[in-house]
Amino acid sequence: MLQSVPVLTLCFLAGFVGCSLRIAIVGGGISGTSTAYFLNEILGARVDVTLFEGSKIGGRLSTISVEGCEYETGGAVIHEKNKYATDLAVKMGLTKMRDDSSSSEVLGLYANNEIIFVSSKFSWFNNIKFLWRYGFDVVRLQQFTDNMLKSFDNVYDVQDKNNSYECLDGLMSAIDPVFLKYMDVSTFDGFKEDGFSSEIINELIQGTLKVNYGQTTSVHRFVGSVSIAGAGATLFSLEGGNKLLPQKLLAASKAKLINSFVKEIGQRGKEFTVKTEFNGTSSESQFDYVIISTPLTVDPARKNKIQFTGHLADIAVPGNYWTTVCTIVKGDINPHFFGYKSAQDVPDLVISVTDSFFNSISTINPVKSGQSCGTVWKVFSRKRLTDVEINTLFQSVKFVQHIDWLAYPHYDVKQHSYNFTLSDGLYYTNALEWAASAIEMDIIGARNVALLLKKKIENYGNISVDEARFSTSSIAHDEV
Ligand SMILES: Cc1cc2nc3c(=O)[nH]c(=O)nc-3n(C[C@H](O)[C@H](O)[C@H](O)COP(=O)(O)OP(=O)(O)OC[C@H]3O[C@@H](n4cnc5c(N)ncnc54)[C@H](O)[C@@H]3O)c2cc1C
Repeated sequence: MLQSVPVLTLCFLAGFVGCSLRIAIVGGGISGTSTAYFLNEILGARVDVTLFEGSKIGGRLSTISVEGCEYETGGAVIHEKNKYATDLAVKMGLTKMRDDSSSSEVLGLYANNEIIFVSSKFSWFNNIKFLWRYGFDVVRLQQFTDNMLKSFDNVYDVQDKNNSYECLDGLMSAIDPVFLKYMDVSTFDGFKEDGFSSEIINELIQGTLKVNYGQTTSVHRFVGSVSIAGAGATLFSLEGGNKLLPQKLLAASKAKLINSFVKEIGQRGKEFTVKTEFNGTSSESQFDYVIISTPLTVDPARKNKIQFTGHLADIAVPGNYWTTVCTIVKGDINPHFFGYKSAQDVPDLVISVTDSFFNSISTINPVKSGQSCGTVWKVFSRKRLTDVEINTLFQSVKFVQHIDWLAYPHYDVKQHSYNFTLSDGLYYTNALEWAASAIEMDIIGARNVALLLKKKIENYGNISVDEARFSTSSIAHDEV
């Protein structure tokens, strides 16, 4: 071993062809593609990355075509303070499109079969309307959100210092220890303890949760707070569709793309075996490290589940994902359902804050600016809308399509048992979704895993690649 060190160290550090560590990424959504991008950025030629995606690159960033225009059906908006998504979009040459729903569009809150609150197009009047209904709590909520966003910014410093964490709690605590506490209390209880009125919690806060996560204020306060952060903020989407970001990241990462679903992951010796299937053809390949970038919960509705075999068989990710159905409708809204005489009066976004067959309904714009294909609506609901429900919401319908999403975790409180490291050499970027599911969070989870891998590999910095490949435990640099 001593004899081999100098040559192999040189090989390892320089990343000569043939010296690279083989890394598999499973999943080509924003998590998997940003992981590939960061691995290339951080480790360059020292790694040889293969990304497996059985469906389309983008995953939950996806669009649908309606009579010549495309519309977002999954992750649609990005907060202006989301540094990674913003910076990566710029680096990938993508253009931001402002989301007008965050400013001038009219919001209606719907409860128990009627509209109970309508905002205004005009910001000065809007402020008065919100203050009138919710009092000073509106200002306090804004202050809370500003402070939270400021604390959240710590994550960028933490990661710029190359710090990485094996588990969700470690990362959350490094960003701000209070965020861990927020995960232990429901959104309702947390805001109530801080003296917010039941009215603002049950209406405004619940409204943001219904539209963003399909859930109620029983979810933990961290995800509740992330949900509120989008309200009234400047939001954007990417010209041409948000799915362009994962597509471009993958291209920039230089990772090899294999268009197959991974069926099985096992380990023979220290090497991972990844079995895939595409169009009935199976194949198998070997890797030094594997990164899972797709949710691993065993929801009955989840297709393409990965089976772990051998000593990995006991890997289990608890919890379930929440089903949200996105229904895209081109048609004429029924104003009478909302208590209006004219369609012009129906707010641009209506959120049902109590139990209803729909969570939200809003007009949406095509992903390309300047395009116009008539009024298209997006309805979010827990279950598929029936024909009767569609005909209740709309007077006439020209186009309807349902997209069933296993959309985001089914949140509760005290959901801490999520790890970025599933086993030695096997990583899981989506652990962070249990704090809050969002494009930026996925990119943060991806960078955390890339940094974990960097730490792992660099701890092997002065041993051979083969030793790095076949060593099970992390060896500190100064211990070798
Ligand atoms: C309706 C909806 C609205 C949303 N709105 C917003 C929003 O406005 N803003 C925001 O920031 N976030 C939003 N989100 C959340 C955001 O879209 C997700 O957090 C993000 O897109 C998840 O990315 P991911 O890469 O982690 O997972 P996915 O996008 O789910 O990617 C996983 C990929 O893995 C692939 N895969 C699965 N199993 C296998 C296998 N066995 N082998 C190979 N490949 C496999 C899948 O095909 C998929 O492409 C929304 C989500 C939904 C569903």
